[in-house]
Amino acid sequence: MTKTIVLASNNAGKLKEFGQMLGAIGFTLRPQGEFNVPEAEEPHPTFIENALAKARHAAAMTGLPALADDSGVCVTALGGAPGVLSARYGGEPKSDAANNRKLLADLAPHADKSAYYYCALVYVRHASDPQPIIAEGRWDGEIIAEPRGAGGFGYDPHFWLAGLGKTAAELSPEQKNTLSHRGQALRSLVRKLQ
Ligand code: IMP
Repeated sequence: MTKTIVLASNNAGKLKEFGQMLGAIGFTLRPQGEFNVPEAEEPHPTFIENALAKARHAAAMTGLPALADDSGVCVTALGGAPGVLSARYGGEPKSDAANNRKLLADLAPHADKSAYYYCALVYVRHASDPQPIIAEGRWDGEIIAEPRGAGGFGYDPHFWLAGLGKTAAELSPEQKNTLSHRGQALRSLVRKLQ
């Protein structure tokens, strides 16, 4: 018998990516939209707190175990910014082009271009679960001014992987899943759930 988990997101890409790996260990993932759960607030300064808030909200509204993620890019010279504000760093409406423009402008005066993507995944068995399962992933790189590649999304064309001589936008989806913050966090979560 499979166990249903509600995903605190309606992102089709995440549903597919997370659903495949969780399906292999006997879980069925259903998006919160199927249960008419509205998006939760994400007011916190840390990824973990926001993921926990989203998971708890989805569990409270459905009575089911819930999984949520929160991710973004953290730049060393900017004290970890954009961080939890990654999606809307360039202002409203959210736009990858505006986000990248602002990031490059903010970083221009700094010599240190190091950055990392980070992903937090939080699983709660129920809304008042005192011991959520938390998994993390981190992917180190640096920010380059000239965009390269047409794959991925968000900051990927500027996220340079020196060891590969490529940006994240130049990787195949499979390569990106193997290396990325989200892939690492997901594999860690699967190990913990097992
Ligand atoms: P979310 O938590 O998946 O909604 O991601 C928040 C934001 O972080 C996205 O809108 C992107 O700007 C950025 N981000 C997260 N993961 C990635 C990635 O793998 N590539 C590029 N940008 C990312």
